[in-house]
Amino acid sequence: MNNNLVGVIVDAGHGGMDSGATGNGLQEKDLNLQASTYMYNRLRELGIPAKMTRTEDEYLPKNERIARVKELYNNSPNTILVANHINSGGGRFSCICD
Ligand SMILES: [Zn+2]
Repeated sequence: MNNNLVGVIVDAGHGGMDSGATGNGLQEKDLNLQASTYMYNRLRELGIPAKMTRTEDEYLPKNERIARVKELYNNSPNTILVANHINSGGGRFSCICD
């Protein structure tokens, strides 16, 4: 690995039939996608290469999510992965890395 950043991978947690945390009429998957889309657009505005694991309300099984993360920049180690979650209080952390 060297210091040349290839890109930032923005992962919107959950999606599709996996809503993540819910409450107050909100679903975590939707907030994760909104936050991730904002981050992606802002990074691109700043000239920083970025890609997203999902851009719509799509269910990604853990193995597929990991495969997608690896594929986005051809398995380069010179990437930064930001996995967005907005968990409910008292919940267990459950995402790509559990
Ligand atoms: Zn989550």
